[in-house]
Amino acid sequence: MAARLGLKVDVDTLQGLRDGVPALLEVLEAQEVKASFFLALGPDNSGRAIFRVFRQAGFLEKMWRTRAPALYGFKTMCYGTFWPAPLIGAAAGEVVPRIAAAGHEVGLHGYDHVRWHDHLASLGLEEVAKEVGQAQEVFTSLLGRRAYAFAAPGWQCSPRSRAVLAAQGFLYASDTRGYTPYFPRFGDQVSLILEIPTTLPTLDELLGFSGCGPEEFTELILGRLEAERPQVLTLHAEVEGGPFRHEFSRFLRRCRELGVEFFRLEDWARDLLKRPLEVPVAQVSAQRLVGRAGRVFVQGPLEGPL
Ligand SMILES: [Zn+2]
Repeated sequence: MAARLGLKVDVDTLQGLRDGVPALLEVLEAQEVKASFFLALGPDNSGRAIFRVFRQAGFLEKMWRTRAPALYGFKTMCYGTFWPAPLIGAAAGEVVPRIAAAGHEVGLHGYDHVRWHDHLASLGLEEVAKEVGQAQEVFTSLLGRRAYAFAAPGWQCSPRSRAVLAAQGFLYASDTRGYTPYFPRFGDQVSLILEIPTTLPTLDELLGFSGCGPEEFTELILGRLEAERPQVLTLHAEVEGGPFRHEFSRFLRRCRELGVEFFRLEDWARDLLKRPLEVPVAQVSAQRLVGRAGRVFVQGPLEGPL
């Protein structure tokens, strides 16, 4: 049995959608691989992320280690500060139908990525519903149908955000870091939206640690793939579709040589939801991860099915 890998592509910025996604589409097509894209479609406030320097341990170090200005470009780093924030879906919407036409999954990665990432915990139910609703509106105008899938910006979720996804009819979400699909429990509340977590570290998290370059990263990921347990790798259009596109292409070629099978998260979700009572529950909690600034939501031990 071959190892199975799902590629989850987060698109956070206008640069990511306009330049990174077309580059990724080319690389994926060359290797005949289908992936799952998650798009932030509202204002690109990337520049405001700079202010995390003052609030979150690890952000400055991460910016330096990953050479963020080289990844994102000066203009992107100013959006939402003294440079007005462009609306991503309006400015590069023509790219979105191309993703779907190539046979990839397209889902949502929020409306205002920076707002969700930095302030989700303090947003009320109505504000969270507005963020998701606005993203859904832009998505529908671009693709003529609603999104089924949601991947939370910065792996930030809450009982409120999960309730909003349930109320707005999403099929599944990919909001957390973990090791196997589950229904997340927040204290005594269980979210009935299936969660398919990211199971592997990301390139931007490991780059620069103890001399970890793209080749070491590829070997590390390949070493984690196993036949019994499908894995989910998160990419960023700004990273693997930007300065690291050639390394990503080499990574896919290596996977192909080893017979790795690729799947779209949506297809796995539909399969799992045929037997929802077999899906386990697990507590989620905010934790620090190596190479990532601030905390992200992480799956705890399995507790058995619903
Ligand atoms: Zn993101």
